[in-house]
Amino acid sequence: MSKTMAINAGSSSLKWKLYAMPEEEVLASGIVERIGLDNALFSIDYNDGESVERTADISNHEVAVEMLLKELIDLSILNSFDEITGVGHRVAAGGESFSDSAVVTDEVLKEIERLGELAPLHNPANAMGIRAFKKILPDITSVAVFDTSFHQTMDKVNYLYSIPMEYYEKHNARKYGYHGTSHKYVSQRASEMLGKPLEDLKIVSCHLGNGASLCAIEGGKSVDTSMGFTPLAGLTMGTRSGDIDVSLLPFLMEKEGIADINEMIDILNKQSGLKGLSGISSDMRDLHEQAAENEQAAVALRIFENRVIKYIGAYAATMNGVDAVIFTAGIGENDIQTRQNIIEGISFLGAQIDNEKNDCRGKERVISTDGSKVAVLLVPTDEEVMIARDIERLS
Ligand code: AMP
Repeated sequence: MSKTMAINAGSSSLKWKLYAMPEEEVLASGIVERIGLDNALFSIDYNDGESVERTADISNHEVAVEMLLKELIDLSILNSFDEITGVGHRVAAGGESFSDSAVVTDEVLKEIERLGELAPLHNPANAMGIRAFKKILPDITSVAVFDTSFHQTMDKVNYLYSIPMEYYEKHNARKYGYHGTSHKYVSQRASEMLGKPLEDLKIVSCHLGNGASLCAIEGGKSVDTSMGFTPLAGLTMGTRSGDIDVSLLPFLMEKEGIADINEMIDILNKQSGLKGLSGISSDMRDLHEQAAENEQAAVALRIFENRVIKYIGAYAATMNGVDAVIFTAGIGENDIQTRQNIIEGISFLGAQIDNEKNDCRGKERVISTDGSKVAVLLVPTDEEVMIARDIERLS
């Protein structure tokens, strides 16, 4: 048995899971939040129900990793650091450099940092997490798993923007897509659940969380996806606008007296989507609660569903057919009403929801009727287990 850790490092947080492999058993998991701020929060869940939670001064990621590893020893989850055989890190942007996960060498780490120009909020933080573990566990295999890798199979026809070609040639300005690890995991599970080889399936995977994207998957390969050069494109999200006409930017900047384009982009990332439309909240639960009395909340919900329906239609056309639609992530796994409305919106494809089967949250199951021409599946995502598998595969 080997013990491996899957890590998701943010600028002030570090989420982790410790696995026993190849059994894929979660031995412990936890999060360190508010790193670098007063009263950082440190929590661990272990032994099927036991937990540790406390505040501490955690000035940087290295201190967080030290504390976490020491705690794993103190709680006897590990006997020594030598038991850890690999650490895998989620990395947002791999650009065109990484079409698969990679063992982290000095060159790989430098490239991850360079690709910070594609994901300025995420890659530098991901790199910080990698450095912290490398410093404390220098001899242990370190693997980077990129959100973009799965989409590197897209054809030019789908990843090029219709702008002067030299911008792609000179600067790699193109669609990259995100959530790749999640789309890959749920499509593999769907194939197992349906008992059909991935090679024979045309799938639309709907990762609907606070960040949301759709992916057209043919023969197990991503052929198109709704996020773009950055995660701002595509669907209406919790706080992101999704697709808009870019000519709105100079128009709004002039009207609103916004001088800096970065401020405008920040509004599209953080003040838009469900939050901006409803004026209430970025959270679907709040919008459902208020939709009966509040027209804006009701409209925001309809816009969210409408964009998903349009993209499913577009991807069915891209693949010239669709065998399965998958729902995953916070909204996809839990929002019964939204799933029902979306599937009713694609009844022209022969998709039919079974309302009894759909009446559930967070459980893996087929939610379409036996006679539905398109299988509809609810598959809780598991990006961490994909990271653990890649550590095994690459070490
Ligand atoms: P994620 O980013 O995948 O964690 O998803 C977060 C989103 O899931 C939240 O913003 C909520 O809108 C949504 N969500 C979570 N639970 C529910 C629920 N029971 N009903 C509707 N939406 C939910």
